[in-house]
Amino acid sequence: MQAQIIQLMKQLNRELGTAMMLITHNMALVASLCQRVVVMYAGRIVEEGPVEQIFRSPQHPYTWSLLRSVPRVDEARKDRLVSIRGLPPDLTNPPPGCKFHPRCPFVIDRCRVEEPSLGEVALNQVARCWVLMRNVKEDDVAAAKASALSIEAAQKLKADAEAAAAEVDSVAGS
Ligand code: SF4
Repeated sequence: MQAQIIQLMKQLNRELGTAMMLITHNMALVASLCQRVVVMYAGRIVEEGPVEQIFRSPQHPYTWSLLRSVPRVDEARKDRLVSIRGLPPDLTNPPPGCKFHPRCPFVIDRCRVEEPSLGEVALNQVARCWVLMRNVKEDDVAAAKASALSIEAAQKLKADAEAAAAEVDSVAGS
């Protein structure tokens, strides 16, 4: 069904010659349909640029984490897929500094108190980060991958929590 919808969207885009805006968490869809990507976190743009460039060289840790959480056919993957640790922020009471800092594996002290602004990181590419992925040491990247929860483990935790909640509901209802 998804493939048919994608085909239809591509066809309409071609025939009408209009711009199309797609709002999604599905990075595979972004790769197949879009030319430009705007990555948002907690209501803010955290990275923006041409799709190919962002997929090849994400500079914001949130973009990097999103791309580590989906299978890629354009690269030989040796790493496991990972989930992003922690929960999205409460927008009524957002954290100080960089909004991604409670979940960021590359956080530094400055991130906790001061929010970065969007800055140019390459031609046509901007990111909102004090550190940027190109400055993270390989050892730190490897440690971040190793400490992240695997997708399978995250799914199991979610399933266990849902089963526990269902059990509580059924006890409360009886
Ligand atoms: S500013 Fe700091 S906390 Fe925010 S994404 Fe960059 S490294 Fe992570």
